[in-house]
Amino acid sequence: MNPKVRDEGYDDLLDAAEEGEAYYLACANGHGSLPPRRTCPHCGSVDLSEESLPDSGTVETYTTTQVAAPSFASKTPYTTAVVDFGPVRLTGIVRADAEDVEVGMRVGLAVGRNTMTGNRMLTFHPR
Ligand SMILES: [Zn+2]
Repeated sequence: MNPKVRDEGYDDLLDAAEEGEAYYLACANGHGSLPPRRTCPHCGSVDLSEESLPDSGTVETYTTTQVAAPSFASKTPYTTAVVDFGPVRLTGIVRADAEDVEVGMRVGLAVGRNTMTGNRMLTFHPR
């Protein structure tokens, strides 16, 4: 995956998620992808429509970081998860105690802020 494209899409997604209107892009073949795609990464279709993201997804995999870089030191341990929202998968920080996170856990999407850097990030909240 091209990290530059992913970052641009991430910002678009954060903007939408902050408004409670997170979306993904869907092609006629039912493939999902994240903005700002112009073509479907799965089949090359250029006919993409914006579809509302389901308001919850399930944890597919997760990693708990016990020791982080200095800018994250006050946040450890924290858990990063890949969450399956059906057509698309998103990566973010789970706002739950690390020991409570498990594969299959149902979470909702929100936008949080890294208190150290001020950067926005996707966060997942247990449902
Ligand atoms: Zn497609």
